Amino acid sequence: MATTMSSTDTFVIFFTLDRAKGSKGICAVVVERDAPGLEVGKNDEKMGLHGSTTAQLFFRDMRVPVANRIGDEGKGFATALKTLDIGRIGLAAHSVGAAQRLLEGSLEHAKARRQFGKSIAEAQAIQWMLADAATEIHAARLMTYDAAARADRGERVTQRAAMTKLFATEMLGRVADAAVQIHGGMGYMRELWIERAYRDARITRIYEGTSEMQRLVIARGLLEDSGA
Ligand SMILES: Cc1cc2nc3c(=O)[nH]c(=O)nc-3n(C[C@H](O)[C@H](O)[C@H](O)COP(=O)(O)OP(=O)(O)OC[C@H]3O[C@@H](n4cnc5c(N)ncnc54)[C@H](O)[C@@H]3O)c2cc1C
Repeated sequence: MATTMSSTDTFVIFFTLDRAKGSKGICAVVVERDAPGLEVGKNDEKMGLHGSTTAQLFFRDMRVPVANRIGDEGKGFATALKTLDIGRIGLAAHSVGAAQRLLEGSLEHAKARRQFGKSIAEAQAIQWMLADAATEIHAARLMTYDAAARADRGERVTQRAAMTKLFATEMLGRVADAAVQIHGGMGYMRELWIERAYRDARITRIYEGTSEMQRLVIARGLLEDSGA
């Protein structure tokens, strides 16, 4: 069983031929939605990310031609890792864009919203939230450009992609939280887009590898580099 997007016609499926081989037993195959033995479950309900569908896949005596295999037998894990490096940089870029939009919306709201006779943008507490958001977005953007440029040059970016994904998605979480705070009660209401952005932001710390997995990859790289 696997969890995946259910509106697609083509799936990439990772499976093991031999559990005893660990990561060296994993293979990747491409399968069409109408392949005999493949069943796509109902769309799962999620906290957010409602613009994309997610469902479980079920496999019953499914046979896949060798021609559908991606890479050599047992190389599925290596393929997944290579894909993840690039996917993580992409997700960092997504996080920078989402955070930038939240900052712009928060700035606009802070200038327009008046309380106690002045705009809330004049309150230092609000200014600090905006300043922290702008600073973190800038840092995440530079990290993303750096990782993407290195990947384009063909460098191995596993560790940098993990750092960039970790920082950018955690940054988005903080910026989304501040955006709700700056919008006050309205930030919590369905009427505005802020609460949706807040829910959508949460998944970025989970998929393409959780924040804990990114830290593990980064720490492993540090230990390897130091000859441990
Ligand atoms: C909406 C959605 C879409 C998704 N899309 C895809 C997709 O397209 N393709 C795909 O392959 N996957 C996809 N996923 C799966 C996603 O990548 C996994 O949910 C994620 O990697 C976490 O794995 P898990 O759910 O098994 O959590 P678990 O592995 O059970 O982890 C639970 C918690 O324990 C922590 N943890 C686990 N092991 C350790 C450890 N050794 N050290 C420290 N902490 C640890 C985790 O970080 C996490 O906090 C999607 C998930 C969702 C919700």
